Amino acid sequence: MPELPEVETIVRQLRNYAIGRRIDKAELLRESMLKRSTLPFDDFFRNCSFAKIDRRGKYIIFSLDNGSRLLAHLGMTGKFVVSENENTADKHLCSRYIFDDGGCLDHIDIRRFGRLETYRENESIPVLERLGIEPLSDDFDASSLKAVISTRNGKTVRTRAIHTLLMDQRLIAGVGNIYASEALFRAGIRPVRKASRVKKKELPLLAESLKKVMEESLEEGGTTVSDYRRVDDKPGNFKEFLRVYGRAGEPCRKCGTEIKRIRLNGRSAFFCPECQR
Ligand SMILES: [Zn+2]
Repeated sequence: MPELPEVETIVRQLRNYAIGRRIDKAELLRESMLKRSTLPFDDFFRNCSFAKIDRRGKYIIFSLDNGSRLLAHLGMTGKFVVSENENTADKHLCSRYIFDDGGCLDHIDIRRFGRLETYRENESIPVLERLGIEPLSDDFDASSLKAVISTRNGKTVRTRAIHTLLMDQRLIAGVGNIYASEALFRAGIRPVRKASRVKKKELPLLAESLKKVMEESLEEGGTTVSDYRRVDDKPGNFKEFLRVYGRAGEPCRKCGTEIKRIRLNGRSAFFCPECQR
């Protein structure tokens, strides 16, 4: 699933490609993908261009020049791909934006766990309001990490595994199992350790590791394990720099011990039994 660095890579490329181009026609090929709408899909984009494209957590927010917004989540296998020819159609095409200069933006999703929602100018987007802190923001550090892994809505969450907490979108937005596993390796903390057992002195390194691994991945255009592609349909290059994720059975790059994979809350977590306690 695309996580923060992958979605941010897509957003940056989309800005270069799509902002300011007039949309001649928008097509919704998979109606089930549109979970919330204000107008019929094509009417929503009529006589518009993309004015702004932003990211919040793993969501992409396309703002139109009339103030309306399209919210997109890529789910497991979603991607936005630039095409200069509208006659080439992928069979997994979900929505398509044809520009008046002939180019088009294809939204493709093989497994269709993604979603689209449309909003008028002043409508709030509830799902964005429920998201936690952005790990690449200046506000994210050891003390904000301590605050978010201690309580949520006044309820203690410290009995849950730290790996599960890092991936809770309501606490920290944009982290999935790739970067949760990688950050915990760098911080020397086992994924299964309860949040209450993470020591105060370990938090600065954990916060810094999470930030750093995402920034490094962003520089490489994200991590492609299987389906993630950039807007130019090329894979991200960070996979070869992963230290634990997807490396079960292989030797730890630091100590040579075999990397283990476990299931935590239904998700895979990878760790080195020697380097992480
Ligand atoms: Zn190791």
